[in-house]
Amino acid sequence: MKENNSAKELSEKLFYSKKSVYQRKDAAAIDAAYDYAKGYAAYLDAAKTEREAVRESIRLAVSRGFIPYTLGDKVVPGGKYYYNNRGKSLYLFTVGTESLENGIRISAAHIDSPRLDLKQCPLYEEDGMSFFKTHYYGGIRKYQWVATPLALHGVIVKKDGSTVEVSVGEQESDPVFYINDLLPHLGAESSKKPLGEAIPGEKLNILIGSRPFEGSGDKDSIKLNTLFLLHEKYGITEDDFLSAELTVVPALKARDVGFDRSLIGAYGHDDRVCAYPALSAILECAASTHTLMCVLADKEETGSDGNTGMKSDLFLDLINELSVSLGADPAVVRANSKCLSADVSAAFDPNFADVFEKRNTPLLSAGVVLTKFTGSRGKSGTNDASAEYIGWLRRVMEDAGVVWQAGELGKVDCGGGGTVAKFLAEHNIETVDLGVPVISMHAPCEVISKVDLFEAYRAFCAFCLA
Ligand code: MN
Ligand code: MN
Repeated sequence: MKENNSAKELSEKLFYSKKSVYQRKDAAAIDAAYDYAKGYAAYLDAAKTEREAVRESIRLAVSRGFIPYTLGDKVVPGGKYYYNNRGKSLYLFTVGTESLENGIRISAAHIDSPRLDLKQCPLYEEDGMSFFKTHYYGGIRKYQWVATPLALHGVIVKKDGSTVEVSVGEQESDPVFYINDLLPHLGAESSKKPLGEAIPGEKLNILIGSRPFEGSGDKDSIKLNTLFLLHEKYGITEDDFLSAELTVVPALKARDVGFDRSLIGAYGHDDRVCAYPALSAILECAASTHTLMCVLADKEETGSDGNTGMKSDLFLDLINELSVSLGADPAVVRANSKCLSADVSAAFDPNFADVFEKRNTPLLSAGVVLTKFTGSRGKSGTNDASAEYIGWLRRVMEDAGVVWQAGELGKVDCGGGGTVAKFLAEHNIETVDLGVPVISMHAPCEVISKVDLFEAYRAFCAFCLA
């Protein structure tokens, strides 16, 4: 008996145990998490594209006293600033009271999500219907986008330089859009194809109309009517699509999932489920003695390229500008900075257990996930955070009572993925991936757990304040 007891005590002392947030937290803490999730759901609905996420994030930041920053501006300790990069990526920072050379605490999430972008000459008519041609953005499973209600978001820049904002399909009274799928009655051949081939990219055409222009039955009269309506509403002509960024996303609002309302189903959890807690942490923790920065990057889903992606020199420019303004050496600032690359990970899914390695895969509702390395085929393309940095972060999170778990993306040979981590780490900044586990990542409707979201928020706060 004594031996059994001591074995139990010893295993409690020696074993690493991964437990659900529900086992570790009391009812009041769970209520707080569910409460926090309401703000997140509102953010999701307001921010389906990177442009909308920038706008909504600025709105929240301004309400907390953040002011716009322009390159060359002087900054002061205690100041709260945001830099709006072309309306598509956002840098928020608060200047701490300690020396900038102690480093910046950086949280970097992305606000773009997989979707369908309109081509530059998108509009055509065929056999009684008008359509938009699309080119998908990011990694999607194409079969998931057919036969489901879709919304259109984006901007059209006219030749005179004016910009038209488009958002159709989000209000109850709005029409929605659609991609045709094959009926099962005629699907015998198509059903034999692999999932990745059954719906090729050039079939992802958006159904946008079927009524001809009044009194005209001519060729292209439906296309004409579509353009007529667009001209009436937005004052555009067909060539204005040439300078537009229009994006098709699911016409779906964030919804609680489950009888217990413990989960949220929504479009774009990847990566707003990390962007929102990183943003709310910098808003809450602005009084930290450290200088804090929250990066909400664009273009992660296509490789972080371009002037709004994480590879843009703007990130270095901002650190240089802060350093000049505060009399610091930017190389020292970077060497002492710490970064959380805030991105999602794949939650273990018992329905697809064969692609996960259970001992090292994050579990739903077991807390925020710390991912030491990403990449594929032998860690190719990974940041692979140092044991020293993880050791420090582990202490920070545990001292703050954050429930966290280590995680890896699926089985070694099954695939893989990357994040913005390596683009920050290559500037000599300690960086590790931290984020929320997601079910059905990159699907039009992804699922996350409210308690994981809240632990992510608490992790970002602990990081800002430690
Ligand atoms: Mn992501
Ligand atoms: Mn992604």
